Amino acid sequence: MKIGIIGGGESGVGAALLAHQHEYEIFLSDSGSLSDPYRQELETYSIPFEEKGHTIEILADCDLIIKSPGVPSSTPVMRDLRDRGIAIVSDIDFASQYTTAKIIAITGSNGKTTTTTLVYHLLQASDYNVGIAGNVGISWCRQLAESDKDIWVLELSSFQLEDIPHFRPWISAILNITPDHLDRYGGSMLAYAQAKMNIARNQTSFDHCFISLDDPYTSEYIEYLQTDAEKRELRYEQTRGDVWSMDSGRLYDISGLKLRGIHNRQNVLFALSMIDLLAPEPSVIEHALGSYKAQEHRLEHFAVVDGINFYNDSKATNVEAVYYALESMPDHVVWIAGGTDKGNDYTVLRDLVNDKVRCLLCLGVDTEKLEKSFSDILSDIRTYKTLDDLMSDLPSILQAGDSVLLSPACASFDLFDNYIDRGNQFKKAIKQLIQQ
Ligand code: ADP
Repeated sequence: MKIGIIGGGESGVGAALLAHQHEYEIFLSDSGSLSDPYRQELETYSIPFEEKGHTIEILADCDLIIKSPGVPSSTPVMRDLRDRGIAIVSDIDFASQYTTAKIIAITGSNGKTTTTTLVYHLLQASDYNVGIAGNVGISWCRQLAESDKDIWVLELSSFQLEDIPHFRPWISAILNITPDHLDRYGGSMLAYAQAKMNIARNQTSFDHCFISLDDPYTSEYIEYLQTDAEKRELRYEQTRGDVWSMDSGRLYDISGLKLRGIHNRQNVLFALSMIDLLAPEPSVIEHALGSYKAQEHRLEHFAVVDGINFYNDSKATNVEAVYYALESMPDHVVWIAGGTDKGNDYTVLRDLVNDKVRCLLCLGVDTEKLEKSFSDILSDIRTYKTLDDLMSDLPSILQAGDSVLLSPACASFDLFDNYIDRGNQFKKAIKQLIQQ
C-alpha cells in the first residue's frame, strides 16, 4: 500500500515515521518549506518527500492520504484528491489504528490544554502508564512509533477531528462550543460545532461521551451529536462546594486546587468525571489536584509587587476566555487587550468590564472596535501600537491593589510570532519594570 502524506510539520513527519515503521511505501508532500530537522529526519529514514508544491500525479497514485490538521480540506490539492475518490484520514485517525490503549479524547473551544494536561497529571499520579498527545507536544504517531501506553490522553482541535473515519475514543469530552476559527468553516458555526462533535461519532455503547450544556451554543447544537456512547451531561452546579460526588458514589475533596476561576472548576469537573471511570483512589487524586499548576500563558499569576498582581493570559484569544479571566479577578483590573480581531463581539464582556475594569490598555492593530465597545462605560481607555510604548506608560497608571491582566481576546500575529511569544515578551517586560 502506498501512503501519501500532506504536510511536513510535526504531524506529517510523525505520521511518516509511523508509516515507515509499518513498512508502507510513503511520499510526503508540503506546499511550503520543511524545517531543517524534519528534512534531515526524512532523509535519515530514506522517506521520499517534496517541498514548495504538490505533484498531484504521485499523490493520486496513493491508496491512502494522511492529512495534517494545518491543511484545510478546501485547498486545491485536497479537493482534487477527494474528487478522485482516494481515502483521506487525519494523522490522529492513522495513529489510532496502531494502539491498543484506552483513549481519552478532549475537545472544546476553550480549556482543552488545561483539562488534557490535568487528566494526564492525575493519571500519572495514580501510577498509570499514560501518554499525552494531540494538539500538545510531540505527535501521537511519532510517540506510537516508539512505544504504546495503556492510556492516551489526547487534546483535539476541531481541525484534528476532520477526516477521522476510524477514530474511536473510549471517553470523549466536549468541554464547550463557542465561536472560534470560523474563518476555516466558511463562517458557519454549525460546521464548526459538527467538527467538534465528530469526536464521538465512532464511539459505541461501551464508550462514554461527556458534554456540558452550560453554554448556549452546545445546547443549540446538541441535536447534531450522533453517537452510540453513553452520554453524560455535566452541569456547572455540580461544582458547588469543595466536596464533589461522582456517579460512582466516590467523593473528591477539591479544596487543594490552585487553579482560579469558575471555568477551571468546569475543567476539573470534566477531568474528575472522566477519571472516575477508572476507579482511582480519591486521596491520591486530591493530593495531585493540589500539585497541578496553571499552564503557562493561561491565567498565569507570575508576579506580585507593591500589592499589584500580574497575570499572563496570552492564550485567551477569544472573548469567551476573557470573560472567565475577568470573572475570576477581583476589582481594579488594568486589562490589556487587542491584537488581530477574529470578528469579536465584545457585548458579553460589558457587565464584567463595568464592574471590574479600572483601565483598558488596547495594544496592536485592531483596537478601534475594542475602544468603541467600552468607551461609554470606561473613562480610562488608552491605545498603544507597541508593547514598548505600553510598558513606558504603565508605571504612571498602576496603583496598589490593581490586577494587571493580559487577556487579549485576539490573535497575536500583528506584533508577535504567536501567543507564546506574546506572553513571554509581556512577562519579560513586566519583570524588567519591577527590577527598575
Ligand atoms: P485551549 O487548549 O482549548 O485553547 P486552554 O486550556 O489553553 O484551552 O485555555 C485557553 C484560554 O481559555 C485561557 O485563557 C484559559 O484561561 C481559558 N479557559 C480555560 N478553560 C476554559 C473554559 N472551560 N471555558 C472558557 N475559557 C477557558
